[in-house]
Amino acid sequence: MIPAAFDYVRAGSLAEAIDLLRRDPDGTKLVAGGHTLIPTLKLRLASPALLVDIRGVAEMKGILVGEDSIGIGALTTHAELLASNALHQVLPIFRQAANLIADPQVRNRGTIGGSLANADPAADWPAIVIALKAELEVASASGSRRVAANDFFVDIFSTALEPDEVLVAIHIPRPAADMRFTYRKIRHPASGYAVVGVAAGLRVNVGVAADVSIGVTGAAGHAFPGDVAAKFLAGKALSQGNIEEAARLQSAATECLSDRYASAEYRASLVRTEITRALLAVAA
Ligand SMILES: Cc1cc2nc3c(=O)[nH]c(=O)nc-3n(C[C@H](O)[C@H](O)[C@H](O)COP(=O)(O)OP(=O)(O)OC[C@H]3O[C@@H](n4cnc5c(N)ncnc54)[C@H](O)[C@@H]3O)c2cc1C
Repeated sequence: MIPAAFDYVRAGSLAEAIDLLRRDPDGTKLVAGGHTLIPTLKLRLASPALLVDIRGVAEMKGILVGEDSIGIGALTTHAELLASNALHQVLPIFRQAANLIADPQVRNRGTIGGSLANADPAADWPAIVIALKAELEVASASGSRRVAANDFFVDIFSTALEPDEVLVAIHIPRPAADMRFTYRKIRHPASGYAVVGVAAGLRVNVGVAADVSIGVTGAAGHAFPGDVAAKFLAGKALSQGNIEEAARLQSAATECLSDRYASAEYRASLVRTEITRALLAVAA
């Protein structure tokens, strides 16, 4: 299909992008990789009057591994996250997850910011930023603010972003050196998106789960923290029985989506098995 007519501007800076958005927030769409937006326009699910191309905005690119935190520009592509050795050394979960996203063509163009702002309920990065307790930096003409990843995903394709706000960067507190993370997903066979995906972080102290952090995607209308499982397991012996019980409790507490590919019961079962497998993997 052919999109409705629109005007197109390339923003040269963050300030310019924000200014263009401010003038008509509801009639303007930012385009990053375009991997979701362009099909949406072609299907006429959106018909903005203006497209603001932000790919040239240098302030929104790159990965900075600092002593206390890791900053990732919203325009960083999946391929750049996969390739970064500096990031891999502190958070190997990024390479692991990026490798599971679609194919090289999609990874070369799709951006982490576009994925988070789009909030597809089956996208991978939302589970990871939740498990990593990231903060998302957003900016508008009235200034900038940070939103905890836990609070960012509101509903299907819906986030805490206001129509005049740009997602600028993702900030991740540097985890303790002995905190290990993993990501795993059951892929939809056609799209590669997560039917259910789980990011899990674990720190063990003399056989006890000292710190547990879980993000789940694909299961419900939006990615969410696996707090029920984390709360149950924290402070307990890291036995297979405790891990399985934590996963069972989380599954029972989750209201799962149902669609033509996976029923709510099947997704609930995947929440249980994928949390179990992810925790066993980081515990190993
Ligand atoms: C064939 C295919 C397979 C895929 N498989 C997977 C997969 O397995 N797992 C997965 O997680 N994803 C998958 N994706 C999604 C893809 O990886 C991108 O993450 C996704 O398309 C959005 O990123 P983008 O940069 O292309 O965003 P765009 O399409 O440019 O934008 C998406 C939306 O976000 C808004 N937006 C973009 N950037 C910003 C910003 N900085 N601030 C505010 N709003 C912004 C846009 O206005 C638009 O509404 C797949 C996509 C395709 C086409």
